[in-house]
Amino acid sequence: AKSLGKNDYRMFSPEMHLHSREDLLMESDLRNAMDREELILYYQPIVDVTDGSIACFEALIRWKHPESGLLSPGRFIPLAERTGLIVPIGEWVIREACRQHQEWKRQGLPPTQICVNISAQQFLKKNFVQTIAGALEAYDINPKYLDIEITESMAMDFTYAENVLRELRSLGLHLSMDDFGTGYSSLYYLKRFNIQTLKIDKTFIDDLAGESNDSVLISTMLAMADTLGMKAVAEGVESKEQLDRLLEAGSPLIQGFYFSPPLSPGTIQRTYTELTDTI
Ligand code: C2E
Ligand code: CA
Ligand code: CA
Ligand code: CA
Repeated sequence: AKSLGKNDYRMFSPEMHLHSREDLLMESDLRNAMDREELILYYQPIVDVTDGSIACFEALIRWKHPESGLLSPGRFIPLAERTGLIVPIGEWVIREACRQHQEWKRQGLPPTQICVNISAQQFLKKNFVQTIAGALEAYDINPKYLDIEITESMAMDFTYAENVLRELRSLGLHLSMDDFGTGYSSLYYLKRFNIQTLKIDKTFIDDLAGESNDSVLISTMLAMADTLGMKAVAEGVESKEQLDRLLEAGSPLIQGFYFSPPLSPGTIQRTYTELTDTI
């Protein structure tokens, strides 16, 4: 539109309402959710099938909504992204994952890496690295136990991303590329970013069973990871058939419902031994 003067009614056209009434209500709920301690992290094991150990627990956020029950991230992360609330929520996630790691350590559980999802907005904040460094220090965590999962969308500003990731690596953190294969992947930046693990997106794992039953892409990605000196995790493994195909292709790091769904911290504490015995 050429003219956007204050008399231009088009400024107030219904399409321009960014948030629905429902959104607004949920936004104020979400603002309070952190204070009310309604946000919680569940943890899903990434299993190393070579020895049955847990390579990492991926922290996955949930919202214990007072009326709607346990909400999965798909129900509120998009709103958090639109409103910018993802930044304070993301900071909470980092602190909470570190706090949980310390608590498990105190309970005598074997130390396991925790993988944390990061949103692009969080990544772009000036204090991002400082937030992480602060949480590690506050809970006395060896940085090697924290794995930051980034996505390909964060590589948009290459120089910025490269600098932030270099700082994270120099802190001693582990870096993973999440949802690998779904975005724009260049070998060049994977190498430059010093990524240690590629998380192969579930869509490629889905192709390993049923009608398509195609493992060519998986084999290619595994070979690529290997050439670059990186590890690869297969995400969303649900069946024995998929697992067998992955093992044939030489992929020992497995995450998915086949082994375990995301679990509450309480469940992990109670069943840790059982959990490692069944896998
Ligand atoms: P993601 O990072 O790709 O996480 C994996 C998702 O796949 C999780 O969904 C997990 O529960 C699900 N999953 C794992 N194994 C299987 C399987 O075998 N079959 C199927 N069908 N699904 C499986 P969830 O927990 O609903 O999280 C969805 C997305 O929300 C995550 O995708 C991530 O992008 C985002 N998310 C979760 N927690 C956080 C967080 O703390 N911060 C940010 N920024 N995003 C988060
Ligand atoms: Ca992830
Ligand atoms: Ca993923
Ligand atoms: Ca995903």
